[in-house]
Amino acid sequence: MLIDQKFLFTPGPTPIPDRIQHAMNHPMIAHRGNDFPKILEEVSSRLSPIFGTENPVYLIAASGTSALETAVVNTVEENDEVIVIVTGVFGDRFANICEAFGANVHRLNVEWGETCSPEQLELFIKSINKKIKAVFATYCETSTGVLNPVNQLGKVTKDLTDALFIVDGVSCIGAVPIDMNGWDIDILVSGSQKALMLPPGLAFIAMSTKARKVIKNCKAKRFYLDLNRYIESYEKEKSTPFTPAVSLIYGALEVCRMIEEEGFVQVIQRHQLLKTMVREGLKALELPLLTSDEDASPTVTAVVTHNEKTRQIKKTLEEKFNIVVAGGQKKLKGEIFRIGHMGYCTPFDVLKILNSIEMTLHQLGNHNALGTATTRAQEVWIKHV
Ligand SMILES: *Cc1c(COP(=O)(O)O)cnc(C)c1O
Repeated sequence: MLIDQKFLFTPGPTPIPDRIQHAMNHPMIAHRGNDFPKILEEVSSRLSPIFGTENPVYLIAASGTSALETAVVNTVEENDEVIVIVTGVFGDRFANICEAFGANVHRLNVEWGETCSPEQLELFIKSINKKIKAVFATYCETSTGVLNPVNQLGKVTKDLTDALFIVDGVSCIGAVPIDMNGWDIDILVSGSQKALMLPPGLAFIAMSTKARKVIKNCKAKRFYLDLNRYIESYEKEKSTPFTPAVSLIYGALEVCRMIEEEGFVQVIQRHQLLKTMVREGLKALELPLLTSDEDASPTVTAVVTHNEKTRQIKKTLEEKFNIVVAGGQKKLKGEIFRIGHMGYCTPFDVLKILNSIEMTLHQLGNHNALGTATTRAQEVWIKHV
């Protein structure tokens, strides 16, 4: 097989469109020169609708986790009481970051594979009876493939507390509906290598007016991730306090163009279709899914590996078909594999992964597999054509 044709179906990093790859080849420019401010302003404002805000989106040269850390160090001081909704590995990471900076963390632990309901959050907030500084949530919990109802969780937070509502949208922003104002989200963070179709290395942060006030007055120690520096640099000279990831920013501008050309609404609908095709196809193969249709994210699907045969799927996909999927993390290690279907992903790509799973199962002895998932997925797709 052609060795350069390795197909990424991991929930980050994700495939990069040629157009974006080319845009990132732009000759290097001096970021303190005349051109950079124009580009940064254009990117920061064209990203706003994708983040569901009217405010500019701030960019930091670093991975997605740094965006999570940025949200914490700019709002939470030592001994502040915070609530972290933990629906999987990334909620757990938010909690660990808060703990590392000395917050008193109240973990709302939800069964992995399920979403946090507004009622659960309401009961939890009422049970704490302390002044809460911030409530942290994960929009798409990548480790299980659920999409938490942040639209309702923000409202509960606002109705019951003065806390900031802070959302990790790393593995879904760019593919899902979002409305920071309407959903009472104060800080929304994301990363480049998931639904935003870029290589790793760029962190995105959007803030409400309320969040900006808290950030301004926050006394926690920080330097590189101090958002006040980014806000000041942007407002004064449309620049960044430190050397920006110029090439990735050229790429991000092309991302905005691609999403605008397809239409953001259409991008969201495409991800819904991908989700349904993947899920219906896998169900036709009688592969158990970790999450319910209602809770499932349109960007990533977790398949439960319930026997020796299904545990071989991930390895066989890579060895025989050059298809890369992700395994389970932490307590789901060995229990699931995860298919990413976000960003630069089409219905044809879904047929490719389903086709490869069929052939893998055939190789592993299931002789009814060929054509089963792809036929079902085609039936789903054809209704939308
Ligand atoms: C990938 C991911 C992160 C971490 O991003 P890195 O770029 O790996 O640091 C955080 N949260 C979620 C939900 C993710 O999917």
